[in-house]
Amino acid sequence: MAGILFIISAPSGSGKSTLVSELRKQVSNVDFSISWTTRPPRGSEENGREYYFASREEFERMRDEGMFLEYAEVFGNYYGTSRQSLEEARRQGHDLLLDIDVQGAAQVRKALPEAVSIFVMPPTPKVLRTRLRNRSRAEGVVNEAELYRRLSEASKEIENYRDYSYILVNDILDRTVAQLEAIVLAERYYRNGEPIAFRSSRVLEVAAACRQANSQERLKPVLEAFGIGTSNGQQQLPFGDDLDDD
Ligand code: ADP
Ligand code: 5GP
Repeated sequence: MAGILFIISAPSGSGKSTLVSELRKQVSNVDFSISWTTRPPRGSEENGREYYFASREEFERMRDEGMFLEYAEVFGNYYGTSRQSLEEARRQGHDLLLDIDVQGAAQVRKALPEAVSIFVMPPTPKVLRTRLRNRSRAEGVVNEAELYRRLSEASKEIENYRDYSYILVNDILDRTVAQLEAIVLAERYYRNGEPIAFRSSRVLEVAAACRQANSQERLKPVLEAFGIGTSNGQQQLPFGDDLDDD
């Protein structure tokens, strides 16, 4: 059985890593592709656990040797998925989860159109800012410039949501984890005929509700809060000074 390739993208700080790690506790046979990056390790990150850390020169050499399934420059650093991750998961018949940005997702979709793509949105700009700030504090470094950079990219990334099969709004963590789990189980059921042992009809309903095609009403307030899809087409600045300091 060939595994399913899941792509998950989100603005930085939306909770993607948290969701992926919770999913992997609940669902077996989902491998996580450890990306290569030229950014320095953050907080307690370890080489070979969250990322493989490389210099720019090393990354460029690997890129030129064709090692990457996709790569992109994000926030001034390279990030890339090695072809080896995909080959290994395929060999084992496992599903593979790629946590990659919108540029990388577009490259993978082009090369492997059967991939299932999931976009995670934060509920509001303010929540996103709080999460980014809390994470920085927990890691012991609050870099205001880096924080601002990540916040200002969020709306641009969210604008790509239509390219994704499923959309999650990561408001209440347990609910979002359950939705992500339902998507994985539903895709296994539809693609591989794998039975869903527990409350199968509920799982399929939850997954169906997360399909992008069924999400317009649910997404409306989120998109509005990020200044996307406003009637005059003007981009609002959702991170202005009107937000209380957290
Ligand atoms: P990402 O991988 O998308 O950059 P993280 O998983 O690192 O984001 O999450 C950013 C911060 O938000 C972390 O401190 C995490 O604990 C917190 N977080 C994630 N999801 C939720 C949620 N649903 N509710 C509250 N806090 C959350
Ligand atoms: P962070 O620095 O917060 O870990 O990640 C920043 C961004 O890079 C996130 O949007 C994350 O999804 C993305 N990213 C992580 N690994 C890869 C990768 O291998 N390829 C691409 N294209 N993006 C990645």
